Amino acid sequence: MKTGNKGTMSFLLPKPNGEFLNLGIMGGTFDPIHMGHLVTAEVARQHFNLDHVVFIPAGNPPHKDKNLINSADHRYLMTLLAVVDNPFFTVSRLEIETKQSSFTIDTVRRFFEIYDYNKLKLYFITGADAILDITTWKDYKELLELCSFIAASRPGYSFRKLKVIFGPAFPEIIKRVHLLEIPAMAISSTFIRRRVAQGKTIKYLTPEPVEQYIHKNRLYLR
Ligand code: ATP
Ligand code: MG
Repeated sequence: MKTGNKGTMSFLLPKPNGEFLNLGIMGGTFDPIHMGHLVTAEVARQHFNLDHVVFIPAGNPPHKDKNLINSADHRYLMTLLAVVDNPFFTVSRLEIETKQSSFTIDTVRRFFEIYDYNKLKLYFITGADAILDITTWKDYKELLELCSFIAASRPGYSFRKLKVIFGPAFPEIIKRVHLLEIPAMAISSTFIRRRVAQGKTIKYLTPEPVEQYIHKNRLYLR
């Protein structure tokens, strides 16, 4: 563990005796966070023996229209409410406190600035839809060198065409990507936003405190 100001990383506690840290990070817009995100992270945590999973809400997601997403603070607070009962989960403000667009490579580099490279193994947790786009991510080749990926199955997205989609880059990519079958969760934030706008129940699609937060703050009404 390096010394110095850890700033937004202060939630990351060094393991005693400088032991090796197996860390999962899950990026997303989380507008709002839902059971699909939580089940994915929890199954990945156990399967890959992760010490911790850090949820990192995107500040200014490069792929999404910033006029259409909720404020970073709402998304951060909902994510915090959702993970508070899991001792292995935390939320980071790293990306929401960054003024520029949030690119995964910058976040991952930041982890390695703070942690000793030889004492940290990073797994970036995504759903199947996100992994299909990986070649469009900034500096994706360096990203694949710095961390492994866990791609969770997601209804509507198939891993079967990965070879075709990645083309010549397939062998390089696939050796850094672990495909993980999770209990099918046909839930998306889009689905939840739409249901709220239509006055339909979202109970059990997201943790109850998040559901209450959404109603209390009148989010997603139109
Ligand atoms: P939106 O509908 O707004 O795109 P989303 O539900 O896809 O929201 P994101 O915040 O875009 O959620 O996703 C963050 C990460 O979580 C991505 O890697 C995505 O693939 C993954 N993910 C989201 N929902 C699921 C799900 N139901 N099963 C598996 N992975 C999921
Ligand atoms: Mg999405």
